[in-house]
Formats: sequence, C-alpha cells, structure tokens
Amino acid sequence: MKGRIGEASRIVIKIGSALLVEAASGQLKNAWLESLVADIAQLKARGADVIAVSSGAIALGRRKLGFPSGPLRLDQSQAAAAVGQIALADAWSAALGRKGLMAAQILLTLTDTEERRRYLNARSTITTLLGQGAIPVINENDTVATSEIRYGDNDRLAARVTSMMTADCLVLLSDIDGLYTAPPGTPGAKRLAQVTEITPAIEAMAGKPVSGLGSGGMITKIEAAKIALGAGADMVIASGHVMNPLHAIADEGHCTWFLAQGNAATARKRWIAGSLIPGGRITVDAGAQSALQKGASLLPAGVRGVEGEFSRGDTVSIINEQGFEIARGLIAYDADDARMIAGKRSADIEQALGFHVRDEMIHRDDLVLVGPTA
Ligand code: GLU
Repeated sequence: MKGRIGEASRIVIKIGSALLVEAASGQLKNAWLESLVADIAQLKARGADVIAVSSGAIALGRRKLGFPSGPLRLDQSQAAAAVGQIALADAWSAALGRKGLMAAQILLTLTDTEERRRYLNARSTITTLLGQGAIPVINENDTVATSEIRYGDNDRLAARVTSMMTADCLVLLSDIDGLYTAPPGTPGAKRLAQVTEITPAIEAMAGKPVSGLGSGGMITKIEAAKIALGAGADMVIASGHVMNPLHAIADEGHCTWFLAQGNAATARKRWIAGSLIPGGRITVDAGAQSALQKGASLLPAGVRGVEGEFSRGDTVSIINEQGFEIARGLIAYDADDARMIAGKRSADIEQALGFHVRDEMIHRDDLVLVGPTA
C-alpha cells in the first residue's frame, strides 16, 4: 500500500456503525468487513501495528432486542450495546481469523484514557497484545457508561487511543469522505485535500452533526483531529462506502488529511516534560544516568534515593548524583514500593514486594531527558 497509511508503523482505524451494519435489516455487512480486513492483513504483513476502534454494537443489538427505529433511551442503547457487542466482537474475530490474525476485544470508557493509572494499565495491555501480533478491537464500554452515549464518541475515543498508543496515523472511516468548505450539499462546497492546522475557520466548516445510523458528523471528527495532531499523529477522514477502503485512500485520495507538524514521540515527550508537575524525586547513580542519556529505561538497580509521595503513573523528576534534574518520567510504582525496590535488580522485585508490576521503574517510552545534558 502506498502513501501515508502504507508508511505508518502504528495505525488506528475507526469504523463507523453505518459501514458495518445495514440500516434496514440490522445485518452485519460481512463482505465489506472482509475487504477491510484484507487491507489490514497487508499492513500487518509488512510489520505495522493495527488497532481497530469499531462502532456498531448498538446498531447490531437494537434489532435483536426488537427496539423500534429512531432514537433510543439511554437504558435501551445500553441494553442494545450489551447484545450487539457480542455479535460485533464475533464478526471481527471471525474475519481476522480467516486471515490468520487474532482479534482482542477491549472495552474502554473515555475516562480510562484521562486517568493516568488506568491509562498506563490500558496502554500496557494493548502494548502486550500488539507485541504478540494481535489486533485490538476497541469500543466504548457502552453498557456501563454513565453519561449519554453519543454517536461520535468513538471518533474521540479513537483519537485518545492514537495518542495513548503513540500511533502515527489515525484513519476515520465513516460515510463522509472529508472536510468540506461548507456543509456537503451546499453549492460550491469543496473537499479540502489537506489541513495542517485546526483554525477557527476550519472549525466553522464542520457545521452541525448529521445523524444517520451512526455518523458523528464533522464536529467530533475535528475534535479527534485536534487530539491526534496534538499527539503528533496524522489523521485522515475518508468514506468507508467502498470495498478495500484503506487501499482506496492510498490509490484515489478522496479524503482529507490532517497533517501533524512533528512526530509522535516528540509530542508525547512534550506532554511528559511540560504538562505535569513532578510529585517525587528519584536520585540515580552515574551508570544509570549515562544509560538514560543513551535512551534506556530506568531500572531499580541504578536508583540511589526516592523522595516524596507519589502514585504509580505520576510524573517524577530524575536527579543525578550532583543534584541536577536530568530527566522526567511517568513512574510505574507507588512511592513506598519504589523505596522498597531502589537499588535492587529487576529479578528481585517480586521478592521485595510480593508482586511484580514491571522490570523498569520508568519505561523509556515514559521518559524524557531535560536540563543542560538533554
Ligand atoms: N459505541 C457505539 C456502538 O458501538 C457507537 C458510538 C459511535 O459511533 O461513536 O454502537
């Protein structure tokens, strides 16, 4: 596959309900799903990580429960999702399985990606799945969500997942083939090929949400673009009403690309370095300092001291033996546990604590060098 999708190393694909579920019959569009999975298999074959964020649970479940068409109450939507999610996960698992790929179902709520401890847990689970070659198939955990389920939530959820997983490309497949200079249908409205900045003028083009079976309209897609671009990922809005929709983007380019200025690692590291106030200080020895400066993770063995109160997932400062801050990172252990394992080999963590979270005290993906040595 050519183009940005073909070159991306970690791709999040959001699939709208209307693409997967036939509106009139409530049936799953299996042939279309097969064609998307064929595209995904190609990306996997060349070594990319692929994550699907799939809507469709409510659309699939509502008919099975005999609910009428038209808007559902919240409890009805949640009930429909409970029934439909099983069918949705089953369809993904079967379609991916036919290509020799493994589906992994993950149900998230938006708050899972906001709260850092849950964020770290979700991220490490998804990282493990990707490492084993599985395809995470993510949806919102609709049945336990406490706020109104709004179509379009999955646009933002997909963008949060993109940021959380430092993906470099987010694909929003729906029934809209891009951002137009005026609402589609307006005479003279033109699709933009490329957007590099979300200006007020761009936001104004988004107009009002259009409600079909599951289209979040343009407003949530622009919200998603802000999150994706802020995290350093490119995003594309494209129509999924074609077979092999990822190939269609690469070959025909009927879409709108939102292009990030900079790369994912830089944006994430900016977030760690700039947006959080460190709650603790970790002093490291000279060996650990030089390893960190070469890009390694912080292991407990190189830690000489742990000061302050903090929880797993908080930002801490890393201080060298001369007392200078050399790095910041998101720590994988609570303060008391970090004190217990300071100076110990990773192999001895379990004996010290009675449990083992991870070998690194701060993983290199969660670490940014600061100060004059950076
Ligand atoms: N989570 C909903 C579902 O699977 C869809 C929400 C959305 O499309 O944004 O039915």
